[in-house]
Amino acid sequence: MGEHTRDRAGADADSLRAENLRLETLVRKQELDFKTLLEMANAINERSLDPRGIEAYLIYICNAVRGQFGVTKAHVVREAMDGEARRFILMERGKTVFECARDGEFAKAMVKARGAVPLSGDPVANLPEAAQLKALDLETVAPLLRFAEGKAELKGVLAIGKRLVKAPFAADDLQMFGLLGSIIAISLHNAELHRKAIVDTLTQVYSRGHFDLAMEAEISRAERYGGQHHSDEVRFVSLVMMDIDHFKKVNDTHGHLGGDAVLRVVARALRQTVRKSDVVSRYGGEEFALIAPETNKEEAIRMAERLRLRIAGEKAESGGKSLAVTASFGVATYPNDAGDLRALVAAADKALYAAKERGRNQVVAASGREHA
Ligand code: GH3
Ligand code: MG
Ligand code: MG
Repeated sequence: MGEHTRDRAGADADSLRAENLRLETLVRKQELDFKTLLEMANAINERSLDPRGIEAYLIYICNAVRGQFGVTKAHVVREAMDGEARRFILMERGKTVFECARDGEFAKAMVKARGAVPLSGDPVANLPEAAQLKALDLETVAPLLRFAEGKAELKGVLAIGKRLVKAPFAADDLQMFGLLGSIIAISLHNAELHRKAIVDTLTQVYSRGHFDLAMEAEISRAERYGGQHHSDEVRFVSLVMMDIDHFKKVNDTHGHLGGDAVLRVVARALRQTVRKSDVVSRYGGEEFALIAPETNKEEAIRMAERLRLRIAGEKAESGGKSLAVTASFGVATYPNDAGDLRALVAAADKALYAAKERGRNQVVAASGREHA
């Protein structure tokens, strides 16, 4: 074997080693990306039913994405929640800064893209929406795609801004960004399904099932952290039961549509009058229940009185007519009026019945614990 051949063999071995190293690094990076993606998927799923609602969840996603991809901005363009959800919108500080039709060209292009694309590239570059998003300092978008029965459904768009480091996104970064879009789409869909299960469609307040769970949780929290047994501090939970007055007459005179209009107006008044921590639910047909945590009896009575006045001032519109409405209220407070959940509901119910007896459109409070 001559010198020349040995040199070549050495060079071959070197380039083989280099190639091995390159592949090893690549595999390690892929493993790392995979791990990161799984961790993000987990974190995103864990928070998808954030009790503070979908807004808090979206903020969490955007922060996570910003950190992960090292970008100045991250936004979720999503379906407008109210109405018939035919638009995608982007909110910034409570204001809508971008919107597009749910079945428009931009939405179609995002479905076609399947994965992440730069706003300056195919298939979105020439659309006015791409320019609008660019004007918001966004550069790259990924569709939030969910597949149902073999069909792609666009749930929104994940959009990110400039990278903090100068280097552009590598192909595998874009791929990871796209995959993240799918994960977010699925978890948003989950959150929507969950919301549908616990919120009454007609009135947009919680349904009965959620009331039962929330009530149980509040009472056991009050028992655990306060209560006479453990400390001097008493934790109150108040329950307000409300029943619309002469609702049967509304139905009989104005039909079920009139009834529905009244229910909607009453529920809106309740939603707008209570605190964020209060749980409003539709307890039965035209009965509503309100759980007020950390609220003592006087406060609860004042709140019920405020609700009563607000409702009595409302008008529901139906068939060109304006319908007046009043309601009666029963208030009971744990631990003053009852020592457990069932007794608390019974006490509020009884007070409500008394309010009806005494002539309706009024608030009656329970009169302390009954000693059997
Ligand atoms: P009161 O002042 O004593 O409460 O009189 P009311 O007519 O409201 O009587 P009550 O609360 O006992 O009965 C409610 C009636 O409301 C029964 C039914 O005709 C009607 N109703 C109950 N649930 C619904 C509902 O979900 N939709 C509609 N449209 N009507 C309902
Ligand atoms: Mg009733
Ligand atoms: Mg009634």
